[in-house]
Amino acid sequence: MEFEAVIGLEVHAQLSTRSKIFCACSTAFGAPPNGNTCPVCTGMPGVLPVLNRKAVEFTIRTALATSCAVQRRSVFARKNYFYPDLPKAYQISQYELPVALGGHVDIEVDGGTKRIGITRIHMEEDAGKLVHEGEFAEAQASLADLNRCSVPLMEIVSEPDMRTPEEGGAYLRRLHDILVYLGVCDGNMEEGSFRCDANVSIRPVGQEAFGTRAELKNMNSFRNVEKALEYEIRRQVERIEDGEKVVQETRLWDANAGVTVSMRRKEEAHDYRYFPDPDLLPLIVDDSWIEELRATIPEMPAEKIARLGAQYGIPPYDAGILASSRALADFFEASAGIYGGNPKTTANECIHWKDAVLAGTLSPETIAHAVEDRERGTISATASKKLVELVLSTGKPFRALRDEQGLTQLSDTSALDLLVDKILAASPKEVDGYRAGKVGLLSFFVGQVMKESRGKANPKMVQEVLKRKLG
Ligand code: ADP
Ligand code: MG
Ligand code: ZN
Repeated sequence: MEFEAVIGLEVHAQLSTRSKIFCACSTAFGAPPNGNTCPVCTGMPGVLPVLNRKAVEFTIRTALATSCAVQRRSVFARKNYFYPDLPKAYQISQYELPVALGGHVDIEVDGGTKRIGITRIHMEEDAGKLVHEGEFAEAQASLADLNRCSVPLMEIVSEPDMRTPEEGGAYLRRLHDILVYLGVCDGNMEEGSFRCDANVSIRPVGQEAFGTRAELKNMNSFRNVEKALEYEIRRQVERIEDGEKVVQETRLWDANAGVTVSMRRKEEAHDYRYFPDPDLLPLIVDDSWIEELRATIPEMPAEKIARLGAQYGIPPYDAGILASSRALADFFEASAGIYGGNPKTTANECIHWKDAVLAGTLSPETIAHAVEDRERGTISATASKKLVELVLSTGKPFRALRDEQGLTQLSDTSALDLLVDKILAASPKEVDGYRAGKVGLLSFFVGQVMKESRGKANPKMVQEVLKRKLG
């Protein structure tokens, strides 16, 4: 029997506001333990939460960029559970009435576009972190760091529209790029700013009804999500083929072992007893606020890819790499603006030097000059690469280095004419041989001219001059 996978993803993205969602504490990463806390986020009795306006704006902008319907009225709810990193014993989230519903994100797969539905986007606060210390004299200890308590999160839930791990990976990357483009999330997966839970089930090809799903947690890179999905799909198929059933459960991805392991079954799932938080008013969003926010939305990755292709004539693959980062795409456009030439060459260079571009150590002028000098035949491809490396190590301008290093090619026709005449005069036997039909001797002449010019002649032009004079 042939099976297909059904995948739905839940993404938790940290909103890049400076303060927390319900108090004025800083959200900065790396503060000393409990350095970013106050009575509100540590859940002291009698305190009151106050909603962060920026966090709402970031969520609405995300909703607009993913074509969701922004809800004019949404409600914060208490999700009750006890855990030592959650001093209030409830998390403030949104439940029945989230801030946004029903959107979509388009991904590129197999040379086409596929639309992945977004079920909902809601806002919530993060919980703290437990630090498990080594053994003390008698007992083992766990320490609570509440800096993350009340850090603003947005949860983006997809429809079960993906069918392969690659589609899951493509959706996550696209969503990640959208959030980073919007500037609402820094996208740092290692610091936990962009986290994903993956729901996956299998069903026989042709069957309409979904199978029982497992929810995978603990994946901190796109590649890990794809690998965890591949493993889990194989595991579920093997179970069914062995005549067993897939049970609904939460499983943890163990990246070192490359396997998913059961964490808790459905029967052990919490009943969170959600109810509207009486300390917070419903969130009311009016049309004028939405329109104000809509005006702040920049060009999104898919639009940028299409425009770069149309405007500069570069292939979708290259446009996709450039648009994977707003900074890289801006850099490309700045370079192509300084020197028009063939934008495909400029795109290649930007992609080749991507790390330096993103680190901010290269200027668009450097790439523009490198491309221009090469296209005009002033320098060779090898010299261009060497010069960019020198720009990076010395910080000097490209053309100053070019002249200082004497890396310009000889492209001046009259100078080349003289060189070629000299070589031809010195090799009469070979000249006769060439004219008698041994055209392979052309490379001999090119070699001689290159040697005579100490490598500075432009090889393409040397060939042209030779052919003209010999023919
Ligand atoms: P929960 O609150 O338990 O996480 P949700 O209804 O919010 O449940 O669904 C979570 C995610 O699971 C969604 O992204 C949804 O698309 C996905 N999902 C639901 N059913 C299935 C299924 N049978 N197979 C794969 N994914 C599924
Ligand atoms: Mg879930
Ligand atoms: Zn606080």
